[in-house]
Amino acid sequence: MPAIRNALVIGGGIGGLTAGVALRQSGIDVDLVETKPNFSVYGVGIIQPNNTLRALDQIGLAARCVELGTPFPGWRIHDAGGNFLMDAPNESHAAPKFPSNNGITRPDLHRILYEAAYAHGVTIHLGTQVHALDDRCDYVRVELTNGLTSDYDLVIGADGLYSETRKRLFGVSVTPQFTGQAVWRHNFARPDHVQWGEIHMGPHSKVGLTPLRSDLMYMFLVTSELGNQRVPEDQLAVLMRQRLEGFGGLISTLRDQITDPTEVVYRPMESLLLPSPWHKGRVIIIGDAAHATTPHLAQGAAMAIEDAVLLGTLLRRDASLEKLLTEFMSRRFNRARFVIESSDRIATWEMEHWSGVSNPDARPGQLLHEASLALLDEY
Ligand SMILES: Cc1cc2nc3c(=O)[nH]c(=O)nc-3n(C[C@H](O)[C@H](O)[C@H](O)COP(=O)(O)OP(=O)(O)OC[C@H]3O[C@@H](n4cnc5c(N)ncnc54)[C@H](O)[C@@H]3O)c2cc1C
Repeated sequence: MPAIRNALVIGGGIGGLTAGVALRQSGIDVDLVETKPNFSVYGVGIIQPNNTLRALDQIGLAARCVELGTPFPGWRIHDAGGNFLMDAPNESHAAPKFPSNNGITRPDLHRILYEAAYAHGVTIHLGTQVHALDDRCDYVRVELTNGLTSDYDLVIGADGLYSETRKRLFGVSVTPQFTGQAVWRHNFARPDHVQWGEIHMGPHSKVGLTPLRSDLMYMFLVTSELGNQRVPEDQLAVLMRQRLEGFGGLISTLRDQITDPTEVVYRPMESLLLPSPWHKGRVIIIGDAAHATTPHLAQGAAMAIEDAVLLGTLLRRDASLEKLLTEFMSRRFNRARFVIESSDRIATWEMEHWSGVSNPDARPGQLLHEASLALLDEY
């Protein structure tokens, strides 16, 4: 018998939708509220390393991701001129029947998740938020902005980096911190020869290319940015092109195609780690709301998905909710911290290198390789 009868998930993003599916597969009734009126997401891509595919396979969704996405074996490293330097292949022993990486568009991933949530019977309220939440010890009474009031055995806050649920529970002592870097993204037609992920190392930035579909790839450009400045939206194409000056080969050809500012997705990089435990009473925080990382290990969505799948699996057990949430924390906190700290260290080394500081201890490639390997261990 499951530890709980019903749950409310706040947030219909990657973590929330996955939690909805995972809990339904454990026999739990699930309501989900999403503030947006529809499931639209911006159209760049997500890299799914092999541990993400393992977690998605546990709820039966990895094969569909690979079907709609594009597998790739690792990263092909180039200098700024586009000259090949080396291959950095990734392992796949967490889920051997799946590739070491899968590139997928965000809209495709989202569609897989919300279709699965509907198919499993998650009751979804779009354009809705929590109006009031009262933890009454034996249950949580929740009033929604659409006028409905219900009682839940568990509330899961999966409402992203700027989580209202986190603020409700833990106040504003932990807030996202700007890391000094930003990422610029743009989709392109994919040339046949881009079969791996590609990294092009510039003197003051790095550029990556990720296969997404047979005809599509996306570029990510990582730069140091002074302060967490907001960038005028109509300038995004010009500014991205400026930051790509100095790159040769394929990147310089692609640079000339960046003309429409609405096609550029710009994000300052922020990270956050909520101290353990991420739960209070019958409310728990998961995903970016609890632990947001920079994309250096491509593990943000992976961590949200692992949280959700593990929570669904644990809640199948016949044990007290408190005991299960304590076990959840013992299996999630150090892993999320490892991802955030490793990503932050790589970011710091990159910024030092780009500003001309020589650090003899800096080994970003080695840390990236070792951390990616470590994340294939059981979670
Ligand atoms: C540009 C970019 C590229 C990235 N690339 C990768 C990658 O390649 N690989 C990877 O693993 N990760 C990547 N990430 C990180 C990844 O997107 C996040 O870690 C992941 O989306 C976290 O999932 P989440 O469900 O916790 O939060 P989100 O996906 O942000 O979902 C939160 C949801 O909650 C909703 N919401 C917010 N407030 C409320 C409220 N009050 N009530 C109801 N609903 C609410 C939001 O509308 C949203 O739908 C990237 C992130 C960015 C920004």
